[in-house]
Amino acid sequence: MERMNALLLIPLFIGLAVGMAVNYLADVLPDSRRFSHPTCSKCGTPYKLTDYLLLKACNHCGQRRSMRAWVVLILMAAVHIYVWLNPPSKLNYLIAIPLTGYLATVFVIDLEHRLILHPTSIFGAVLGLGVGWRNYGLGTTLLGGLGGFLIMLVFYLFGVLFSRVRARRLQKAGKPTDEEEALGAGDVILAAIIGLMLGWPLIWLGLLTGILLGGAISLLLLLWLLVTRRYKENALMVFVPYGPYFILSTFLILYMPDFMARLVPG
Ligand SMILES: [Zn+2]
Repeated sequence: MERMNALLLIPLFIGLAVGMAVNYLADVLPDSRRFSHPTCSKCGTPYKLTDYLLLKACNHCGQRRSMRAWVVLILMAAVHIYVWLNPPSKLNYLIAIPLTGYLATVFVIDLEHRLILHPTSIFGAVLGLGVGWRNYGLGTTLLGGLGGFLIMLVFYLFGVLFSRVRARRLQKAGKPTDEEEALGAGDVILAAIIGLMLGWPLIWLGLLTGILLGGAISLLLLLWLLVTRRYKENALMVFVPYGPYFILSTFLILYMPDFMARLVPG
């Protein structure tokens, strides 16, 4: 027992290291698009490396680090301890390290900036190809990627059509139009990447679970807006970022297959 507890320090430290990398990428990539030196979000002063890694406040203006930085560290440590104790049959722990990092980075950047960046997508595609190839063979993997891409492309084109019709109606009514798109082109690329990771036909389950999760959480949000009387006429048109939900469903399928099997009969 003692020995097992001591061994848990390994995933704890790996999880914290992955969390630091996720925070770093989410801090610098959306603005600089390269591996730049992290700076204070308020005054722009570069952080000292140790201050940055230890989540200290800016020593120039005192700006504290975001809540997200703490949440990511704690969650990544928890996820890695969980994966260490319950290794998924299809993923070994070495693949889990970059994979959790990729999924968390895309999740945070999409949530904070509504962006799915090309460098993370390229990394994800290479990783997805590796994960899929190892698990299901090359054919199933490529078919999964192509399937994810085409399924989401259809949704995307429907979304474009829908917003055109809506814009025309608003124009006729003399109301200002907006450029909100229900689904971004980045979601199509992300669907292709998780298609590689899940393979065919599991990608269907991944996308469906993501859309259902997105719908359920949007509904709860809408109810909350109604109950607190903050509902406005346009609340239904609030942009739903599907990326984070696809990430969540991919994580559930890859890392908690038993849990998913209980939810999905058959
Ligand atoms: Zn500062």
